[in-house]
Amino acid sequence: MKPAAVRNWVDEARRVVALTGAGISTESGIPDFRGPQGVWTKDPLAEKLSDIRYYMSDAEVRKAAWRSRLSHPAWHAKPNRGHMALAALERAGSLHALITQNIDGLHQLAGNSPDKVIEVHGTVRDVVCMACGAISPMPLTLDRVKAGEADPACLDCGGILKSATISFGQALVPEVIEHAMSSAGQAEVFFAIGSSLQVYPIAGALPAARAAGARIVIVNAQPTPFDNMADAVFREPIGEILPRLLGVGDATAGD
Ligand code: NAD
Repeated sequence: MKPAAVRNWVDEARRVVALTGAGISTESGIPDFRGPQGVWTKDPLAEKLSDIRYYMSDAEVRKAAWRSRLSHPAWHAKPNRGHMALAALERAGSLHALITQNIDGLHQLAGNSPDKVIEVHGTVRDVVCMACGAISPMPLTLDRVKAGEADPACLDCGGILKSATISFGQALVPEVIEHAMSSAGQAEVFFAIGSSLQVYPIAGALPAARAAGARIVIVNAQPTPFDNMADAVFREPIGEILPRLLGVGDATAGD
């Protein structure tokens, strides 16, 4: 399949829906989990820090999690050409929804409006109290960690604090998932970008879009379980191929 053919689908569509995963942010310096340079691929113990059961029961896991939040690459990362292409698609008027598994906030930094971005796994830019539910900006708590509180507690109720992300073993927010799934079902063209499509239920957005008649385009370096359901699959680096597929910028010469 030629990029120009996908571009035609996008040009003709009024509702393009994208599902993005960690792979769209690797070119911004944020490693994915399951790619060749993935956090879990290189250090299987890192999985513990993302598991709510260990986090809630073990202060040492929480201290390690706060140390790793202090140096999270998201604080210095800038959106790359993949993020920028999706922001340009919104400006062009055809982005219906941008469902993301990412917690790094780079889509909003690229210029996508918060009401288009559906963060199914939450955001690392906020902190939530696991007892009273209070939400606060991450930098406030990171300042306390820097000042010596290794496992800071909620200032209101003393509860355990955590980044406002959905960890493994933690319930998803049903309204957010429903919004993502219904948006996928309204797509005319559905892109899955930089996701291994192994995390459910959100991987199910792709077959939901397909069942509702959308064209399916997968952009991912490694094979996914849904490649045989796609109308087109591209393995090139996202920052290189996505602007060409979406027809934004001057990246289309030679297609
Ligand atoms: P994943 O790690 O399971 O898969 C990422 C996929 O992207 C891999 O198959 C890899 O081959 C591909 N990829 C990586 N860089 C690429 C590039 N430049 N071009 C093309 N393909 C590329 O990611 P996932 O499916 O999003 O699942 C991981 C979970 O972990 C997510 O649910 C997310 O919540 C979380 N996570 C988020 C971030 C982030 O916010 N940036 C980073 C790591 C993990």
